[in-house]
Amino acid sequence: MTRRTAISARRTLRLASAFCLIAFVGIRAAAGSVGPAVVAKADFRLWPERVNTVPGFDRASRAAILEYGLALRQMGKLSDDEMLSAFRIKSVDRASVEKWLNQERRLVLLNYRRAARKCAASDWSCVGEVRSSAELLQKAAEVHRTMPQGYLAWRDNFDGFARAYVGEQLRLAALFPRISSEIERFNDNELNGDKLADRQFFLTFDDGPTAQGGLTEKTLAMLRKEKRTGVFFVLGARFQERLEKSSKQTMNALYRGQCVGSHGWKHKSHAKWDQWQASIERTRDLLKQTLAPDMVAPLFRPPYGQRRADSGPFFRTQSLRVALWDIDSQDWNRHVSAADVINRMITLMLIKRHGVLLFHDVHPKARVAVPAIIKTFGNSVDWGDCHHLAAMP
Ligand SMILES: [Zn+2]
Repeated sequence: MTRRTAISARRTLRLASAFCLIAFVGIRAAAGSVGPAVVAKADFRLWPERVNTVPGFDRASRAAILEYGLALRQMGKLSDDEMLSAFRIKSVDRASVEKWLNQERRLVLLNYRRAARKCAASDWSCVGEVRSSAELLQKAAEVHRTMPQGYLAWRDNFDGFARAYVGEQLRLAALFPRISSEIERFNDNELNGDKLADRQFFLTFDDGPTAQGGLTEKTLAMLRKEKRTGVFFVLGARFQERLEKSSKQTMNALYRGQCVGSHGWKHKSHAKWDQWQASIERTRDLLKQTLAPDMVAPLFRPPYGQRRADSGPFFRTQSLRVALWDIDSQDWNRHVSAADVINRMITLMLIKRHGVLLFHDVHPKARVAVPAIIKTFGNSVDWGDCHHLAAMP
């Protein structure tokens, strides 16, 4: 084998192992969506301990963050050419990719330190004082090699998940800002959950309301039973249709105790739509005229996360914040079951340690997944009150 073919073979092997031969082909759930065809899936049941207490959460979180850091390092080596073919995209914004990778490396270190605040020296997930990302990764590699037998099935499953998940995110970063998404904020008025307090999470549900007696009611009933709140990002046209068939009182009763934000008038990208400002104004006016003031969250969630880079001043004049998310359930995706959603969300919550969870009340999986996730974490996390989301940093 010549040196050239050896290098080429090594590269191919690296790429193959990085993706487990998964191609991240963009599919269209609806016009405008750029979601991945193959979604990162984990099996959290392989973790042999409970995470319903803070020490249990922290221990699983430390193990997840260490392994995630290694996956990030491996995937971060992908060249532009490798990303073009693996993600089947037409261009790679290298600056955006590097920015995301650097942010994520910083977060890995920060989150590990948070998770290790009450570390016991005898615990294999505790690696002691770390001064840099490089030092953390060095220790992570050692933990990876010496992890106790009972955790190896979890580790190997997690590694596949982490590489696939980093692939999903790298793809979004490579497309940004040509195609905007939740991967990056354009300004500080945009909110994505990455500055929330440690172990604080918010629930959000998009694309409703459904027709009377449909999934929106069922999702709301589930939340009330769980004694939790969420922000429902509604489409103006769907909300108006339900209002016309009922009354203001009915719409207030429907969302009582919960929060309603705007998802625009129609489910269209607000990055390339010449009516984007009218869509936002019209939806805001409808919500304000219909619902009690404390139910209306001054938030706009862009369909597909797509909005214009220069839209900041407009949202400020409207007293609205762009509400992105950082923990995506992929519950709309037909390749993803409710069990997949549960495992994916639990795993991401352990890696990220805080954030805004994205679900859809027009799909049935959230109704099953949310109670399971709440039960799994018990008292170890703080589910934020939806009325406070707009005031978060
Ligand atoms: Zn949507």
